[in-house]
Amino acid sequence: MMMYPDDILLRVLRQFSRDMLLVIDPVTLNIVDASNELIKRLDYSHDQLTRLTITDIDGDLAAVLFWDEFKRGTEQSAEQVEGDFLSAGGELLPVSKTIRKFNENGREWILVEVEDNSRVQRERENLSKLSSQLKATLEASGDGIAVIQPPARIINMNHRFATMWGIPDEVLDRGNQAIYDQIRNELVDQSLFDHLLQNLGEYIDHDDRFTLELKNARVYELRVFAQISSDEVSGYVLNVHDITQHVQYEQALILERENAEQSSRYKSEFLSNMSHELRTPLNAILGFTQLMEMDAELDTTNREYVSEIHKAGNHLLDLINDVLDLTRVESGHIELNIEDVDIADLIVESLNLVRALADRFGIELHFSRGLNAFVRCDRKRMKQVLLNLLSNAIKYNHTDGDIYIDIFSHQQRRLSIAIRDTGSGIPREKLSQIFQPFNRLDADKTSIEGTGIGLTLTRRILQIMDGEITVDSEPGVGSTFTVHLPFEQRQSVRYRETPHDREHKGAAFIDPDNKGLPTLRVLVAEDVIPNQLVAKKLIEKLGHQVQVANNGEEAVNAVRENRFDLVFMDMRMPLMDGLTATREIRILEGESRCLPIIAMTANATSEDKRQCLEAGMNDFISKPINRDQLSDTLRMVARRLQDSLEAVSMK
Ligand code: ADP
Repeated sequence: MMMYPDDILLRVLRQFSRDMLLVIDPVTLNIVDASNELIKRLDYSHDQLTRLTITDIDGDLAAVLFWDEFKRGTEQSAEQVEGDFLSAGGELLPVSKTIRKFNENGREWILVEVEDNSRVQRERENLSKLSSQLKATLEASGDGIAVIQPPARIINMNHRFATMWGIPDEVLDRGNQAIYDQIRNELVDQSLFDHLLQNLGEYIDHDDRFTLELKNARVYELRVFAQISSDEVSGYVLNVHDITQHVQYEQALILERENAEQSSRYKSEFLSNMSHELRTPLNAILGFTQLMEMDAELDTTNREYVSEIHKAGNHLLDLINDVLDLTRVESGHIELNIEDVDIADLIVESLNLVRALADRFGIELHFSRGLNAFVRCDRKRMKQVLLNLLSNAIKYNHTDGDIYIDIFSHQQRRLSIAIRDTGSGIPREKLSQIFQPFNRLDADKTSIEGTGIGLTLTRRILQIMDGEITVDSEPGVGSTFTVHLPFEQRQSVRYRETPHDREHKGAAFIDPDNKGLPTLRVLVAEDVIPNQLVAKKLIEKLGHQVQVANNGEEAVNAVRENRFDLVFMDMRMPLMDGLTATREIRILEGESRCLPIIAMTANATSEDKRQCLEAGMNDFISKPINRDQLSDTLRMVARRLQDSLEAVSMK
């Protein structure tokens, strides 16, 4: 047996060192000694191990060839050679070997320092797992992602990035420049991309998104993110998102909106013209019918005929008004004049208008004012809502029934107006249908008149006034329609006074036959002969004097030459329209410029009303002329005049 070093230090080292050491005979490759640490790790006994050669425990093909080099003397030393040692239990221990030859006792030996590589190996495996997970995440993204290291070296990229830019494998293999050239080649305008690439650092930490258009008509959105490691920017992530569909959808929407706006413009122009064209002849029909009804000499049969014409004319007017109104409301073409309206006042005003109808059916109206409040709404539209609900409560009530109107507030800043009737009621399953246009449930089989649009309109009007309507009904007991609106506390306005209104003395005189009110001298400016006749006759029947002007110019001259108490002014007239004529009158010398001027026109839009008031008119009545409205207006002007006459005489 060969001699080998075995002094005391070696023995101590063998037993206690944490190093894993092996001594090998270079001639036979026998293991001649091993430190205890290695013996323990490989689970052999010292005897077992020293009976083996190194290639018994380091035995794959590469290792056998490697050790052969040492045996033959072609290899003298090696650093950190990785491999696996076979343990007694058959497990492989990853190791790293550093090998050196040394001389002792006159001959050569091999010393192998062994390092346990299992931790490094584990870390390496973890790293590779992490890296493949990262790669999978990158690949799973629907966006194209590329990581760039400054200045412009592409260090990573997902497959999607390559397909989005149409980069084939051979271009990928050629490297950065070829990839950038391919991207540039796809772009309609390369300057933005080049600028971004050169100034990547400027666009991180902002929420900047850049839109890139491609020659193939696709549109990409590019964002730049910083890749931070150890608190430093180690690279930039380019995120490319395909927004082609989104852009196309947006463009389609814009086009659709433009088309819709265009057709809505045509529609409202058409409506405005239709409205005028339909109402003008109706004005003549209804006006003359009203005049004929006043004729005491009319025989009974003809009176009946006239009354039928009147009824049918009114129904036609209702239909035209409702359909036009609904279309206008639906298309958002109504202008609201939102103000604080004394709701109790408005209810009383509306009740007065439906009282005659209620009386006809013996229906009693009960109104308990409850809350005295102002609601935020358009006065005219709110009155329309109330009149519609009240007339329904009368129409669908039974004879001698009741209607109860209550104002209350269950919700803060919300006011409710409940209109309860004792009528036929509506079955629960049909409740939702009553708000559908033209759906009259079974009412169209009865003689109750209606268009089936009222509630549709009511609901839409309330919605645009930030309100709503609810309904509760029990067949045979009655229905309650409740309107909910926002409410505030401020005063409302009515007849609009012009600056010099009070200065006007007028030409009125007290006619003892005219119930104590002054008889007014009224100027009617109107170009259509039948309308002139209707207005003149109606005003005269109401006890006032009338002069007619055929156009705006004649009206201004008439006011300049004679004294009047009131002008009814048509808007559309030849030579000079009503608005211009009003402006001319308002700048006349003397008292005439303060005359009350009331627009009388078939163009009943709120824009027209605004223009009338802006030109200096005081109020507005729409054609066809309604006898009651005309009479109310004349009475109001007469009363105001009387007040100012009394005020003058008291001085
Ligand atoms: P119109 O009264 O012109 O038919 P509305 O839109 O105002 O149209 O009402 C739609 C339908 O709802 C009516 O035809 C009627 O059948 C039903 N309705 C409305 N109000 C009441 C009510 N107070 N009581 C019972 N039924 C009603």
